[in-house]
Amino acid sequence: MSAKPSLIGLSHEELKTLVQSLDEPKFRADQLHSWIYVKNERDFDKMTNLAKSLRQKLSEKYVIGALSIAEKQVSADGTIKYLFRLTDGQMVESVLMYFEERDVYAVCLSTQVGCAVNCDFCATGKLGFKRNLTVAEIVEQLIYVRHDSGANVRNIVFMGQGEPLLNYDNLMQATRVINHSAEIGMRHITISTSGIIPAIDRLAEEKLQLTLAVSLHAPDDETRLKFMPINKKYPVKELVNALHRYVDKTGRRVTIEYILLAGVNDTKAHADRLNDLLRTLHCNINLIPYNPIGEQYGYERPSRDQVLSFRDWLMQGPHKVTVRIERGTDIAAACGQLQNKNLLAAQPA
Ligand code: SF4
Repeated sequence: MSAKPSLIGLSHEELKTLVQSLDEPKFRADQLHSWIYVKNERDFDKMTNLAKSLRQKLSEKYVIGALSIAEKQVSADGTIKYLFRLTDGQMVESVLMYFEERDVYAVCLSTQVGCAVNCDFCATGKLGFKRNLTVAEIVEQLIYVRHDSGANVRNIVFMGQGEPLLNYDNLMQATRVINHSAEIGMRHITISTSGIIPAIDRLAEEKLQLTLAVSLHAPDDETRLKFMPINKKYPVKELVNALHRYVDKTGRRVTIEYILLAGVNDTKAHADRLNDLLRTLHCNINLIPYNPIGEQYGYERPSRDQVLSFRDWLMQGPHKVTVRIERGTDIAAACGQLQNKNLLAAQPA
């Protein structure tokens, strides 16, 4: 366990302040910033344009990142799942995905250890909430993955473990660093939420160009309450009203995520109600056929025909509807599968 603070997660300005506190000229911060965020370097000794004395000062007081890799799994489709050990022994996962048809690399980042929201279909929810990730721990997942894979990552999705909007301040600071320092365009960043209404209103005030994705998964309270207890606090209609406010404030189209659970939320009646509910909302709809995480959870994936029928019913409404391209199902890296059995066993109490 490293007691030294990590430089990853610090903004350019914060690095300038830090470098000056070491009696070094400000431009050294530019070099340091470039090594960390552009070259994804994790070793002070390899920062060859920094004076040896500075490298020594830095390494005495700081580390560049504090995550260590516990496991790395590569899927048949090239998806890579990283299991990271944090300094307190907790674990989180990140996933690198390659979308061949668009020639795009995307990384799915975690924001919490475990999750308090407890969606019934989700492996992470089964863990319960452990703690929020720090800004450094969030940003470092990206830097580590880029360093390890050499991939030119252009897209970030906060869809890993945890409810991002329940770690709001760290999420926002990490998003700014990822945007300004790691040079991921704001329009290439997606935050996915189960629908934490006060945080959606807060995010709207930031007026950022990022994409907000909302895990709606049902068109009515009765259906949603079967598998999303958060709906007691933030019911469907209030959530959709919050999304209207978000669109009004930001001018950004939102993404509605809809996980398809066989026999639970995938009938024509559900599709019709969803179209009615979302008719005037500026949104796209993304269908996610359920990824089984174990028979004991009691959910099944609908047949391919049922998925396509559901899509066609929805397409009678005004919105663009897509079916998510799956990545990494063979290594449990797909949506809702993170925090697999091994990881559950590996979590410290
Ligand atoms: S789906 Fe997301 S919000 Fe729901 S329990 Fe899993 S990690 Fe938490």
